[in-house]
Amino acid sequence: MPRSPKTTVTVRMYNVGFGDSFLVTVTRGKITWRMLVDCGVFPAGQTRPISQSAQMIVEDLAALAPAGSPPHLDVVVATHHHVDHISGFADPAWTRVQVDDVWVPYVEDRDDPDGKILRGELTVAAHNLRGLIATARMRLSAADDGARAKLAVAEVFAVNSEGADPATDRLLGRNDTTFLNKPVPRYVPDRDPAENVIPTTVPGVTAHILGPSRDPNDVKRMKPPKSVAWLKAAADERPADADTRPLFDGVFAVPLSRADPYIPASLRETLASLDLESVSNAEELLAAAAILENSVNNTSVYFVLDVRGTRLVFVGDSQYGAWEHVLNDPEALKLVTDPAFYKIGHHGSHNATPQRYAKEVLGHDHYAMMPFGAVPQWPSIPEGKLLTALEAAGTHVIRADTAEPGPQITVDPQRRWSEVSFTVA
Ligand SMILES: [Zn+2]
Repeated sequence: MPRSPKTTVTVRMYNVGFGDSFLVTVTRGKITWRMLVDCGVFPAGQTRPISQSAQMIVEDLAALAPAGSPPHLDVVVATHHHVDHISGFADPAWTRVQVDDVWVPYVEDRDDPDGKILRGELTVAAHNLRGLIATARMRLSAADDGARAKLAVAEVFAVNSEGADPATDRLLGRNDTTFLNKPVPRYVPDRDPAENVIPTTVPGVTAHILGPSRDPNDVKRMKPPKSVAWLKAAADERPADADTRPLFDGVFAVPLSRADPYIPASLRETLASLDLESVSNAEELLAAAAILENSVNNTSVYFVLDVRGTRLVFVGDSQYGAWEHVLNDPEALKLVTDPAFYKIGHHGSHNATPQRYAKEVLGHDHYAMMPFGAVPQWPSIPEGKLLTALEAAGTHVIRADTAEPGPQITVDPQRRWSEVSFTVA
């Protein structure tokens, strides 16, 4: 009887800093399948400039390609349009890479009615917020360092939420920017559930697309319920404000009547309480920016790679609304229960891994990778309680910044990446 070939799956986390870039390789006999999940970094927390990281990844792919063949990826996934996930795709090095399939959230699809509305809301809100922040900064007295620092953080959020256009061009194949073979992007999830189970070139290996939800109400549910939050977010601490003053009155050039349909309800409520004459405005703008940041995170592609029964869970930066969409669906819940591997959401922040997931669903003795580099403005990431809960469950957490070699774990001698490997029967 011929021996059936062994299957291995390896996840390599590039040490980009505060950002994601994961190379997943599945090998069975002579077949090799490769997927890259994200390529971006948040500049204030970078290990090296993202162009260097992108070129390093392309060089690695070139070294793996058979002689005379271009660097190749079966799939590129861009989970969501934050710069810390996609900015690296702006680098021209990608022009020489053949990519068979590109997965982006349906929010980026200019021809999708749901996507268009959502994308419009997020983009307009980000632009408007930057305008508000600029105005607030001009009104600050020179001595108000505290408020100035808060505005700087708010601006960072707002810029992040505006997306990275040259990178998006490459992913969508626009403006003469694309990969070697000009792939047409696949917007996920599809409206047809059957299309959301995507086969690979390896027999028995499939990807299940579980998010983002196509229900706009899900995506707009940005604030975590207090009972399951790791911490109370700053945005939750404000009393509900019934103030009905026009949103941008006297502050921003867009009249409320025109801006209103594009602004998510929770952002509108936050901004309605703005009082730009008072010093507290920096706090308010920061809260609004944080809500917008969460909203974009909830557009993340959330998927499970099933390697002949060994499951790997990739959640992008999905936060509460997005997680509940998965955890409340019995079939999806089964797929994310007791996986071999979990890509920790949103760099280990308090609101991106539900307590229920860490304590009850994830199971014991698994591997989790945390793409992380310190950002001075965000000392509360990663969240200590999350790491404690994962540790209590016996999860092997591999941090990009402090990875150590161990069973199944390899760390590049120059610390450019760390890897975890699984052998599948
Ligand atoms: Zn991120």
